[in-house]
Amino acid sequence: MSGNTETDLSKELFLLEPEALNACVSCGLCLPYCPTYRVTGDERMSPRGRIALMRSAGTNEFHPTDEWIHSMDTCVQCRGCETACPSAVPFGELMSDTKKALASVRKLPLAVRIGLSILNKPLLLAGATFLIGTLQKLGFMRNSPYIPSGVPLLRRKFKTTYSSVEPVLFTGCVMEAWTPWVHDAALKTLDFFGVNVAISGKRVGCCGALHEHSGLRSVSVKMAENVIDGIPTTGPVLVNSAGCGAMLKEYGKLLGTEEAKRFSERVFDVHEWIAENYQLPKRTEKKERVVIQDPCHLRHVQNSHQYVREVLSPLVEIIELPDEGLCCGAGGAFSVSQKELSTEIRKLKSIALTEVTTEGEKYRVVSANPGCVTHLQAAGFEIKHPLEVVAEYLNQISESDEMDRF
Ligand code: SF4
Ligand code: SF4
Repeated sequence: MSGNTETDLSKELFLLEPEALNACVSCGLCLPYCPTYRVTGDERMSPRGRIALMRSAGTNEFHPTDEWIHSMDTCVQCRGCETACPSAVPFGELMSDTKKALASVRKLPLAVRIGLSILNKPLLLAGATFLIGTLQKLGFMRNSPYIPSGVPLLRRKFKTTYSSVEPVLFTGCVMEAWTPWVHDAALKTLDFFGVNVAISGKRVGCCGALHEHSGLRSVSVKMAENVIDGIPTTGPVLVNSAGCGAMLKEYGKLLGTEEAKRFSERVFDVHEWIAENYQLPKRTEKKERVVIQDPCHLRHVQNSHQYVREVLSPLVEIIELPDEGLCCGAGGAFSVSQKELSTEIRKLKSIALTEVTTEGEKYRVVSANPGCVTHLQAAGFEIKHPLEVVAEYLNQISESDEMDRF
């Protein structure tokens, strides 16, 4: 802690919109959609309870207790409550502003601070990933479910010079360093449709979503400006990570400038853009059954989850989860800062994933967000990004074309 949070956390720090707070009529319809309420049954861990506590922050009698702070710290920021709310309470904004107030009077846990600071140093992130991955591979370190072994230090060169109107694939930080094969799959898919695409690459780097979620507003604003300056085109900006896509789409709101608003308007989740412009050829042989796990930031923030289905439906038999898009518990840095709660939430998702398949069935799960992928992989699920499944299919097509020519 940088100071005494209880006394430093004055009501002046909470500039929460009274209109937004008052929009909540305490109906409780959001409660079944809140992962932290689902696993604890505690009102203070629910959206309604958190809003009531936020209201108290604006009064003269405000004395933040450990319980008050814990209630805010344990919100995954999945925004499942926002889509469930009939009164359109902008819970995401309220929680972001609350996190900002908290971050102004205390330090984040050391592991989170180190993680966040490395995200906007792409070369360091790539080097550290390569080093840890190699040590894991040689058996000098225990395998981490989060940091993969075998990520090459030097990758195939992609086009990083932009023409003004061509699409740019936003490659970000963690995905670029830990799962570059997902970007390769996206580029392969776009190439199949004849799309000439450049990548944003290391000079643009991180989108700032995890910094914003942690309340580091001045850092996230700086990173948003860096991304906008780094992609000075007028064409679509395509994103294959749901969390980054949601952030880029909210730059307009975050910065409030006309330039940022125009930028956000040309951001698309990559499935959204493909589904609106192209369609994959239908697979003729028996389709593999694939379970779709919707990332919260694709479903609750971008409302773009249906496009994953549109892209995949010619290739696979889709299995839907019966949990209305309940969070998997990954939540960016949440799985590090609230490990126990994150694991409890994942258990709910694991039950849902197991229930939709028949016993002994071999199946794969797809999810369009690197955080969800690694979090569920750590629980033993075979999980891929949807475009990896597409790229596999495209490889099969081109192999059989070659065979035909031979
Ligand atoms: S946030 Fe919305 S759904 Fe939840 S209690 Fe308030 S008004 Fe009802
Ligand atoms: S954002 Fe998610 S975890 Fe936070 S209150 Fe809403 S539903 Fe619950």
